[in-house]
Amino acid sequence: MALTGLQIQKLLPKTNCKECGSNTCLAFAMKLAAKKADLSQCPYASDEAKQVLGAASEPPVKALELGENKTIKLGDETVLYRHEKTFVNPTALAINIDDGDDPTRIETTLSRVRDYVVERVGESLSIDLVCVTQTGSDDDHFVRIAQKAHESAGRPLVLRSAGFEALQAAARALAGSRCVLVPADAKQSKKLVAVAQENGHVLAATAENLDELTAITKEIKQNGFNDLLLHFQIQSFAEGLQTRTIARRAAIRENLKALGYPGIHFVASRDPFQGTVEAVDQICKYGGICVLPIFDPAQLATLMTLRLNIYTDPQKPIQVEPKLYPIGEPKTDSPVFVTTNFSLTYFIVSGEIENSGCSAWLLVPECEGMSVLTAWAAGKFSGAHIAKFAREIDLESQVSTRSLIIPGYVAQISGDLEESLPGWKAVVGPQEAADLESFIKAKLN
Ligand code: SF4
Repeated sequence: MALTGLQIQKLLPKTNCKECGSNTCLAFAMKLAAKKADLSQCPYASDEAKQVLGAASEPPVKALELGENKTIKLGDETVLYRHEKTFVNPTALAINIDDGDDPTRIETTLSRVRDYVVERVGESLSIDLVCVTQTGSDDDHFVRIAQKAHESAGRPLVLRSAGFEALQAAARALAGSRCVLVPADAKQSKKLVAVAQENGHVLAATAENLDELTAITKEIKQNGFNDLLLHFQIQSFAEGLQTRTIARRAAIRENLKALGYPGIHFVASRDPFQGTVEAVDQICKYGGICVLPIFDPAQLATLMTLRLNIYTDPQKPIQVEPKLYPIGEPKTDSPVFVTTNFSLTYFIVSGEIENSGCSAWLLVPECEGMSVLTAWAAGKFSGAHIAKFAREIDLESQVSTRSLIIPGYVAQISGDLEESLPGWKAVVGPQEAADLESFIKAKLN
């Protein structure tokens, strides 16, 4: 639970010596409460203050890293709803393979996982993890498939087996690679703690209800291990949503540490529609890792697009770099279009120009990631602003045309633009990007 400034002040020396840069201990405490200062700035902070403030500054949902290079980050969440601040680490998507599957099928799935990339608003999105589930009885075979998955797919693993010996052997074979071991249930959690500790892995505490799960995570933590995920063995979609919501609420609102971990879920349905609904629920409501039973590129593209939306910081629009972009293979006399650096706007406009078959330049000034009308209303997309940017990048020496095609929604800036950029003409383009193709055909061909 976050401490108030007054609560923090009680832990400080109260000498008002000013060495931290604040005039009083209270002023410094207020800055600490607002997370605008660090306790290390006070040279006289007691051990008690360090301990209490250190614990209070921990995120209510623990941050976890997976993979030997710690490439997958989970948890570290501080809010229940995205609009309160932002969600931090996106739900990691994993593809399951069963060790009993046909070897060719396993090989094919692993190479698909490795090669799958989908582009969305300038970001390359790929599959985060592979899950290897033991369905056969040969522990050595399970270990071999786990090793193969690790080498071929180049992704961190989730290792899932009901047998302790199989999990132990796989954990040892992949020591140091920070896999997830499932299930750390009431039966084998104690033994698995030692295995995870020795080999540098993460455990998925597993139970059928919240009370049992809380008891398991508390016990594991008392045994000195805290790299945990929560795995609810739920019976229905509704029960899963309810259980996850209760757990996250308890962690964030009540600071219940026993439930302050990211979750892991195994999608049961192989039906593309049902499976997607289950995974969507995980992405929208607090899923840490979502394991999909099959590799389905259409399902993945849908889920990754949704995930990008949910986990984008609502206070920081996705932006592209302000610069002059070539679309197609433009020559110096190709037309120059102008738009803002809001990613969605950039990709829609550049896509429409590209689809028209016309090679052109796209001038994208810094507009703080705002769309055309918002940027104009905020004074970030005025004629003077565009002209200043054109001069900064020396547009004149890069193109021979002296016309700039501006969005129809800001036709009113054309006079200002021509005045601010002498020798250039402002041409008013269409209001909607969807009309660019017909504009190009009618006016530029
Ligand atoms: S350095 Fe420490 S003791 Fe001195 S004013 Fe700042 S908080 Fe108070």
